[in-house]
Amino acid sequence: MQTTEQATNETVQQAWGKRPLIISGPCSAETEEQLVTTAQRLAATGKVDMIRAGIWKPRTKPGMFEGVGAKGLPWLQQAKKLTGLPTTVEVATGKQVQDALTFDVDVLWIGARTTVNPFSVQEVADALRGTNVPVMIKNPINPDLELWAGAVERIARAGVKQIGLIHRGFSSYGNTEFRNAPMWHLAIEMKLKYPDLVFINDPSHICGRRDILLDTMQRAIDLDYDGLMIESHIDPDNAWSDAKQQVTPERLAEMLDTIIWRKEDISSEEYHAALEKLRQQINQLDDELMQILSQRMKIAEQIGKYKKENNITILQTNRWNEIIERATAKGDKIGLSKEFITKYFDAVHMESINHQKKVLDS
Ligand code: PEP
Ligand code: MN
Repeated sequence: MQTTEQATNETVQQAWGKRPLIISGPCSAETEEQLVTTAQRLAATGKVDMIRAGIWKPRTKPGMFEGVGAKGLPWLQQAKKLTGLPTTVEVATGKQVQDALTFDVDVLWIGARTTVNPFSVQEVADALRGTNVPVMIKNPINPDLELWAGAVERIARAGVKQIGLIHRGFSSYGNTEFRNAPMWHLAIEMKLKYPDLVFINDPSHICGRRDILLDTMQRAIDLDYDGLMIESHIDPDNAWSDAKQQVTPERLAEMLDTIIWRKEDISSEEYHAALEKLRQQINQLDDELMQILSQRMKIAEQIGKYKKENNITILQTNRWNEIIERATAKGDKIGLSKEFITKYFDAVHMESINHQKKVLDS
């Protein structure tokens, strides 16, 4: 016969290994009634694998609701008992790790404001030593992958075997469509660096609003994330924190039904043959592009020689503006965005300047 603890552990392992892994629950636990009802309505959808709730909330300013604290942990235990779903909470200190584990929280996560601080991450890591609880690490609020990677390494060194990454976007100054700019390329870089870690997207904190949540979820699935963490609440508009971004459990289920679940690969031979042919064409074009770029640099070097003989600076602003204007106008006609053309020409220009500088220095 299995003990309750073993049975629970098996449920956690099943959830952790499930693809897509769907984690949902309120931003904050507010009352026992609110937490338990949210969990039950999530469980009733049959689409959620793990219940989240913030118990200790790191808020930007004092006086904001800072979470109910440890008294919310038995509520989470009750939610687990009634739904059979494993639970996860955010921890930021060693004491919070101990408290959460005392109340059988199954998975812990480190929040974005904690990942930025190596002292705090180390304190959490030390408290985790000797436990076998899975830990998810949110990206730091600033776009610094080294800091994110550093947190992964500290947690791994504490002996934690099951680690997940949560991409929740990055703070940026000024107003954008998103509450936290996704900067997808940074998350992808992290995924490539740690291909074995469970890779989760948190569209709620990226969007900060409900209307663009579905698009962001779809985007994450298209980029082959392993799962989603989405905030849900029985009465989103009256939530004590993050009211604008939460959805009801039923709306969450609707959104999960709307998503097109794309997979990374299929075994169809026809599909692979067609893809291989197109990839060969891409390789061929990439080779040609590089050849042409190399020729371009050789011409830049010749220009460098003339500049050297005549004592002229490398950078001539007018000429550069002319190049960019010409290219963006042309790009527009052939379906290349202004943003891409500008970035591309900036990179080409830098390389060109380096080639010319070598000539001038020789
Ligand atoms: C949260 O998950 O409610 C939270 C505080 O998120 P983050 O650490 O991403 O801001
Ligand atoms: Mn939140």
